[in-house]
Amino acid sequence: MKALISNIQRFSLHDGPGIRTTIFFMGCPLRCPWCCNPENLTAEIKHYVDEFGNQKTWGEYYSAEQLKEIILKDKDFYLSDGGVTYSGGECLLQLKNLIPLLKDLKSAGISQCVETSLNVNNEDLATVAPYIDLFYVDLKIATLKEFKEKLNGDLQLVLKNLDYLKPNNAKIIFRIPIVSQMNYTKQNLMAIKDLIKKYCPKDVEVFSVHNLGAYKYQYLKMEYKDFKPSSEHRIALIKEFLKK
Ligand code: SF4
Repeated sequence: MKALISNIQRFSLHDGPGIRTTIFFMGCPLRCPWCCNPENLTAEIKHYVDEFGNQKTWGEYYSAEQLKEIILKDKDFYLSDGGVTYSGGECLLQLKNLIPLLKDLKSAGISQCVETSLNVNNEDLATVAPYIDLFYVDLKIATLKEFKEKLNGDLQLVLKNLDYLKPNNAKIIFRIPIVSQMNYTKQNLMAIKDLIKKYCPKDVEVFSVHNLGAYKYQYLKMEYKDFKPSSEHRIALIKEFLKK
């Protein structure tokens, strides 16, 4: 089995502890209007022309063996806390096809993180979870109706998966992107706070939406919605509110 991957980023410093290799899987069940990786929304190879007129492609199939070779190239840099982070798109949709990779890396003592929305069937998560050391769970909207309307997702799936992870003592970090026009409401922040109380993640990261992915929409000829970043002051206030 092979997985469709848009990018492999070596020496990443912002996708988990230590120095990591980040792998971006294609395909995602959600449609966050501010998504900065639109090339990963569907599991299809994308062709585009860059600003210099060069024909380029996003997407290549990799086997577990090929990925293992790439990940292990940098094992001397991972030290005690670095490793690999599976991101996307929604990496859990394809990781179930790469169990030999997950097993081998676990045996080799390489830390494995996922960045996920958890908007997947529980079987997809359960197959992969025993090999994962840390779950970065994107938590954008915490009310059922808005989760469906704004993200095209099913919050029940997310909650079911959190219920599954909690008794298994999984290490979870919630990541909360603040998008003023989409999720900065008292109702949503209260609902997120309730989830923090219930699931007691190891940490909670709050950050503003950014527009670094805008050029990709141009390449893909997709409509880009320009969401204004939140001020540092607002982010600090939200952190304070959630901490209480
Ligand atoms: S979950 Fe992530 S990859 Fe999927 S649409 Fe939302 S921001 Fe984009």
